[in-house]
Amino acid sequence: MTTRTAAAAARATVYGYPRQGRNRELKKAVEGYWKGRVTADALRTIAAGLRRTNWRELSAAGITEVPTGDFSSYDHVLDTTVMVGAIPARHRAAVDADALDGYFAMARGTQDVAPLEMTKWFDTNYHYLVPELGPQTVFTADSTKQVTEFGEALALGLSPRPVLVGPVTYLLLAKPAPGIAADFDPLTLLDRLLPVYAEVLADLRAAGAEWVQLDEPALVQDRTPAELNAAARAYRDLGGLTDRPKLLVASYFDRLGDALPVLAKAPVDGLALDFTDAAAANLDALAAVGGLPGKRLVAGVVNGRNIWVNDLEKSLTTLGTLLGLADRVDVAASCSLLHVPLDASLERDIDPQILRWLAFARQKTAEIAALAKGLALGTDAITAELAVNRAALSSRATSPITRDPAVRARAAAVTGSDARRAQAYPERAAAQRTHLGLPLLPTTTIGSFPQTAELRTARADLRAGRIDTAGYEERIRNEIRDVISFQEKTGIDVLVHGEPERNDMVQYFAEQLTGYLATQQGWVQSYGTRYVRPPVLAGDISRPDPMTVRWTTYAQSLSDRPVKGMLTGPVTMLAWSFVRDDQPLGSTARQVALALRDEVDDLEANGASVIQVDEPALRETLPLRAEDHAAYLAWATEAFRLTTAGVRPQTQIHTHMCYAEFGDVVQAIDDLDADVISLEAARSHMQVAHELAEHGYPREAGPGVYDIHSPRVPSQEESAALLRTGLEAIPAERLWVNPDCGLKTRGWPETRASLENVVAAARTVRGEL
Ligand code: GLN
Ligand code: ZN
Repeated sequence: MTTRTAAAAARATVYGYPRQGRNRELKKAVEGYWKGRVTADALRTIAAGLRRTNWRELSAAGITEVPTGDFSSYDHVLDTTVMVGAIPARHRAAVDADALDGYFAMARGTQDVAPLEMTKWFDTNYHYLVPELGPQTVFTADSTKQVTEFGEALALGLSPRPVLVGPVTYLLLAKPAPGIAADFDPLTLLDRLLPVYAEVLADLRAAGAEWVQLDEPALVQDRTPAELNAAARAYRDLGGLTDRPKLLVASYFDRLGDALPVLAKAPVDGLALDFTDAAAANLDALAAVGGLPGKRLVAGVVNGRNIWVNDLEKSLTTLGTLLGLADRVDVAASCSLLHVPLDASLERDIDPQILRWLAFARQKTAEIAALAKGLALGTDAITAELAVNRAALSSRATSPITRDPAVRARAAAVTGSDARRAQAYPERAAAQRTHLGLPLLPTTTIGSFPQTAELRTARADLRAGRIDTAGYEERIRNEIRDVISFQEKTGIDVLVHGEPERNDMVQYFAEQLTGYLATQQGWVQSYGTRYVRPPVLAGDISRPDPMTVRWTTYAQSLSDRPVKGMLTGPVTMLAWSFVRDDQPLGSTARQVALALRDEVDDLEANGASVIQVDEPALRETLPLRAEDHAAYLAWATEAFRLTTAGVRPQTQIHTHMCYAEFGDVVQAIDDLDADVISLEAARSHMQVAHELAEHGYPREAGPGVYDIHSPRVPSQEESAALLRTGLEAIPAERLWVNPDCGLKTRGWPETRASLENVVAAARTVRGEL
């Protein structure tokens, strides 16, 4: 291989593209189909049209090899389940009766049959449907979707590359089917799965595919020697097939680590690696194995999951370094562009000075094409692109928005004691007991009450100018009055105002903080037909005015019982936003924490004696590799403490988290130094209470006794039984009684009935103490 041939061959490619369409046509079509307003044929036609538009757009932007098969009407992991025939037994009949209805039944469930479980795709905010496998699983190949979509792109005269979830990742993401022992290891099915992949590859080859991409992001996580062996076996077998397409094994979201030598040795034809945050580690590892002689290297130099313009010169340098390390070097985004919005040029409300710092999917494809051109023909071929890029980068680097001296000075002056409360937990707890005078097993809720149609109408009316701010706020106050009076009547001990003023727990604060941007069209798929618009942490963060104080103060004025102040914590603010890439995450977290700290202090100054700072995302942003956990948890817990440590000892700080498994962050939860934590627990029979107890967690805790994910009303006896289980782990002096999470997705009737039962359960169990 020579550097020159490797460069001259450079191609531009991506692994996937946003599915929804400019006006979220896919969401509308799929939801229309569910409601019976769109026929199956119409849905198929709309989906095919969106694919065509995407491919044409990619090709016009200069993407020379377009992905196929990445499109999905719901989820690409579910598509893989269909491709390998791993239909759960309970869905078999529905799938056989009608493939499309069966597909959506697996995704969403029906009246009688539960859907597949949904969980997060690595450390992104995309959720996939978890494959359910067991020793009896029989795989059968169904390459229809892959072959059809490949054919569609081929018919446009393009050079398509089918993209599949790889067999190792597929098995590593799976879980034992219901009724199968929890220690069943899906990876034991590898030998049965590989022939099915071989069949799909043969079908794609027969359809004319030159290359097929197999995505193995699971290999960027810590893997056991047995798992690495499985990967070696998989690619030895698939690579050893005769008459197969060329195989590109793709990794993204982090460094390959120990898996890199395994894949470098495998008889496959190319590897795709992440050269954004993982660039240095992947480069070193590549050099250590002597490069990829005879193989194609696809270099993910453009960040596929964040929205900032690329530093083209820096990327060209990286690409130049890679040239000597493989037979041919191609340019790509670090991962599928599924994780970013479609097109920054659709934004109308963002200052043009800032807009040019942003690159959504469409802008990223242009960057990738420019880099491939620069790599193949030299920088002279892209002087115009480089000039525009340089100007955008320097505008960002020198903007007063990204450099606010006051914010920077304040963050730099933070000392260890700013992030530590004045008294240790036991003394605080005593002060709070006296100050608050709560009964044993105090009852509370997590914050939100039902977001009613009236509230949504009020917001729409405000946006459309049908009511003014005063009229809107009057409706919010009415709602707060109702929520307070219901809680008093029901006998809840620590009240909330119900969060009626919030559209979303992150966006509400983002809109009020300086340095944060909201988008109008920046939709990103969260799961199925659900899309979110993450705000953008664009500059230095400050809080010009109090954000929640008047609502909490108003609510408190209506009751003698304590009303909790209610904020979203700094880690969650980062996790559900696009973050800055020009400073460490910890620095951004510290700025957000200082802004929130002012809000906490103002809440206290205005009479709040209990303040809750929600951190549901603490666990989900945990880095993929264990060796990175400590550094993350250090800044994350510091940011929480910085937010909350300014209050007096008698002011009680609550936090809230919701996820089932959190065993690996119990120490971090302790390090938050909150006085009370509420957690999701109803479905797992209070398992978290036991995990806390095992750790010796010394503080007060409220494991949820009401599963708010379903409209079902828990009986009084059910909640009482959960409380008694909780008491086996946590003593009565430290046990709180609350639902699993906020009630915003619930209706009033079941909320009323459920909370009445929860309060009654608390009274019953108090009587038994
Ligand atoms: N306080 C928020 C609410 O009740 C918490 C939401 C969450 O944990 N996701 O809605
Ligand atoms: Zn929650």
